[in-house]
Amino acid sequence: MADTAYISLGSNLGDRDAILSRARTAISEIDGVEVIQATQVEETDPVGPIAQGRFLNQMLAVSTKLSPHELLTALQGIEHFEGRERTARWGPRTLDLDIVMIDNVEMSDEVLTVPHPEIPNRDFWQRELEELRGARNGR
Ligand code: ATP
Ligand code: MG
Ligand code: MG
Repeated sequence: MADTAYISLGSNLGDRDAILSRARTAISEIDGVEVIQATQVEETDPVGPIAQGRFLNQMLAVSTKLSPHELLTALQGIEHFEGRERTARWGPRTLDLDIVMIDNVEMSDEVLTVPHPEIPNRDFWQRELEELRGARNGR
């Protein structure tokens, strides 16, 4: 049984376009994951207290046979490959891959909360979700 998951891609360090492009390819190559839709890439202002460059941001809808934790682990492997270094939360990064939502999944533990708790604070996520979910629901 496959779930539909919505994954946010963000980059504000390095060659942001190339990083997002490689991330899309890497996500499509995860076993058990198929990319079904993508929003346009857009530039967004950073969130949080740290002064830093603007982000390129994009959301993908994927069909996934993985558990939410397996999906997170696969995404973290891609972040790591792109040289993501964990400095401050909300700091600059080459690649941030967040699970924004998974249809019909609600869960929270030490490592994963779905839907992502920051959705109410991120207008661009709300817009991207509406675009992808609206299209899938025939609106
Ligand atoms: P934010 O999550 O507010 O966008 P961030 O993306 O900068 O902040 P990270 O440093 O990328 O935060 O991740 C911190 C931790 O958040 C990760 O190690 C992961 O375990 C946890 N996490 C919890 N829920 C999620 C989720 N839905 N998607 C991605 N990571 C999550
Ligand atoms: Mg994030
Ligand atoms: Mg993250």
